[in-house]
Amino acid sequence: MSFVAALLVVFACQDVSWGLPRKNVLLLHNLNPDYPAIAQFDQGLLAVLRASDRFDVRVAAEYLNVTAFEALPSYLPETARYLEMKYTHWTPDAVFADRAVTGLYTQYLHGKLKDVPCFIAQDRGGEGSVPGSVFKTISWSTSTADIVKNLVLILTLRPKTRTVLVVLGASEEERRLAGEVAKAAAGLADRVTCVPTSGLSKAALLEQVAAVPADAAILYLRFALDGDGVVHVPAQVVKEITGRAVAPVFVVARHLLGDGVVGGYAASFELFGRRTALWILDALDGREPSGESLTTSVSDFVFDWRALKRFNISESALPPGSHILFHNATLWETYSVYILSGLAVLVAETFLVLGLVLNRLRRRRAEAALAALNATLETRVTQRTRELHEANDQLGEAKEELEALNRNLELLSRTDSLTGLPNRRHAEEMLQDALVRFSRYGQGFAVALADIDYFKQVNDRHGHEAGDALLRDVARVMTKGVRHCDLVARWGGEEFLLLLPGTDLDGAGQLLERIRERLETASLRCGPARASVTATIGAAVVRCGDGVEDVVRRADAAMYRGKERGRNRVVLEETDRPGGPDCPE
Ligand code: GH3
Ligand code: MG
Ligand code: MG
Repeated sequence: MSFVAALLVVFACQDVSWGLPRKNVLLLHNLNPDYPAIAQFDQGLLAVLRASDRFDVRVAAEYLNVTAFEALPSYLPETARYLEMKYTHWTPDAVFADRAVTGLYTQYLHGKLKDVPCFIAQDRGGEGSVPGSVFKTISWSTSTADIVKNLVLILTLRPKTRTVLVVLGASEEERRLAGEVAKAAAGLADRVTCVPTSGLSKAALLEQVAAVPADAAILYLRFALDGDGVVHVPAQVVKEITGRAVAPVFVVARHLLGDGVVGGYAASFELFGRRTALWILDALDGREPSGESLTTSVSDFVFDWRALKRFNISESALPPGSHILFHNATLWETYSVYILSGLAVLVAETFLVLGLVLNRLRRRRAEAALAALNATLETRVTQRTRELHEANDQLGEAKEELEALNRNLELLSRTDSLTGLPNRRHAEEMLQDALVRFSRYGQGFAVALADIDYFKQVNDRHGHEAGDALLRDVARVMTKGVRHCDLVARWGGEEFLLLLPGTDLDGAGQLLERIRERLETASLRCGPARASVTATIGAAVVRCGDGVEDVVRRADAAMYRGKERGRNRVVLEETDRPGGPDCPE
């Protein structure tokens, strides 16, 4: 608690705020801050004072309009009372005052603020400075040199210029400036003619401005008071001049740029404010500059980019170190990144679209090729299927033909070609089948062998062909003489085998006897003639355990016995149990 109290005491004694000593600065302007010159001066001055790292500077400003109320006798004393009342409570450590306010200050306020350093703005030549050691006058007035610089600038940028209309009002300062113009023009008389305006009303001035040809130029110095005694705001007048003029307008103050003025070697009130602030800070620090009058150059070359374009003035023609204001960036400068990005996207998209189109083209081609291939393939498949069906049909037909052929072959292989009877091979198979039926079902059968008697003699007598014909007739007779279930086969040469199923030896004997008789009595073809033949027939029946050869052999043996006994007879095998075969199983 005691520590905080001690701190407060230290701050109170040293008048410290935020660690820096506090200083009050009072600005006493004549004109209002809506004058661009005043506003820019304040802006420059405040920027420097507030950035000070030595003091915590507080600024109070008064805009007193003393020239506007000159005719009012009570204005100055009443204003002084107001200021006195106010600033004895907020004591300034430094004062800045316009020259127009000097009278008010020295007459009414200086007694109260004796030791306070005061800077007086001096907008004319150094003479007439305010007395008193605390006063410093700061001069920034337009000089002959400044006017010469502007005339040379006009001739450099517009070499064809022969006439310059110099705009000046009717105030005391403006009359003084007319003298400066005359001095400046004298030095350049061989190159250009300067025509100063003086004593004109604003309307007359504007008429004269409008009449200036395009190849001439206008140099605006100042038009604060016209010939009719009317006070004007210079910036407003400049605006009206540039609105009427076809010739380029040059100025000597930077704050007049912005409304169509080309530019010029111009004083900057913002710069003036900054310089003044530095002197004030030095004074606050106890380092006052010596001498009553301080002069500074606050002019430099400054131009409006838009007006340069309008009057086709190249930037390269401007003096070195020129400042260009109101530089409107071109569309390209402003949007180059966007434009380039857009273009990049566009190019990328174009490539993408091209790629897609190409891809689509390729796909369509591939689809067309595929469709064509499919169509061909389909046609080929259809054709091949048809061909296959045809081939299958042909194969089926061929198979059927082959089967028919095979059947024929089979038939032929089992048929005797001479007589059309089953041949010996067929007879053997049938015998085997009969033997199986006998062994399985007990179905017995008889076998007979019939041999034509003396057949050799037939051949010998009638020829072999006649013998063949006789054999065919024998076969026919035999076939007719048996039952449907019986088999007559040609066993070989002039021998025939008869298989008689379900027939015992007696039955076989009766059947065979009948056949023998038919042969004996038949008239058979024998070449051109007819003949009859006899046959000797031996018969046997199957027995249990017989093979084909067994039963055939017994029939053959019987047949031979018949031959031996004189032929043309039926001989049955000799058996112990005549009348039927043994029961097999
Ligand atoms: P046998 O009474 O003893 O049986 O006297 P055969 O003359 O009939 O007997 P042989 O065995 O001596 O003669 C059989 C003859 O049958 C001989 C042969 O020329 C004849 N022959 C055999 N096969 C055929 C044939 O297919 N056609 C013709 N024309 N003759 C045949
Ligand atoms: Mg024989
Ligand atoms: Mg014979």
